[in-house]
Amino acid sequence: MTGQTTLTGGCLCSAVRYEATGTPGLTLICHCRMCQRASGGPFMGVLFLPSEAVRATEGEPLIYRSSPTSNRHFCGRCGSQLFFERHTRALMGLTVGSLDKPDGFKPQMHLCVESAMAWLDIRDDAPRHAKKPEGMTPPVEYDPLTGRTRPPEPHETRPER
Ligand SMILES: [Zn+2]
Ligand SMILES: [Zn+2]
Repeated sequence: MTGQTTLTGGCLCSAVRYEATGTPGLTLICHCRMCQRASGGPFMGVLFLPSEAVRATEGEPLIYRSSPTSNRHFCGRCGSQLFFERHTRALMGLTVGSLDKPDGFKPQMHLCVESAMAWLDIRDDAPRHAKKPEGMTPPVEYDPLTGRTRPPEPHETRPER
């Protein structure tokens, strides 16, 4: 997946479909607890493009602000995770599993392997980072499991919907 290309994908129930035209950037597998929770899987793969390159062609995903630096877009009907957005960097990460043709995906790095599943045997030779590399996200302190900022802001009494 290099050069200008058009990628299409959608959720499990097809209520949300998307198209992305641009030059795919960073691809990664994230093993953090938040991606595990959000995906319901052992890790999550994402392929980043500039946010403006991505548009919904059918339906609109719902957005959950999972941390101060990221939004997770998902289908409100079937719950599929579609995009991992770093809005502070204007980057949209397409989830690998939502792509119509996921086979072209090859991770350029593994993130947060400190919380990778103990049984997981990573065989590729992409670099592995125990945490997120410095500078990938702005230096905001937040809980690695819940994404809440620390200390909790006084008005935060219940999870965001
Ligand atoms: Zn759906
Ligand atoms: Zn993650």
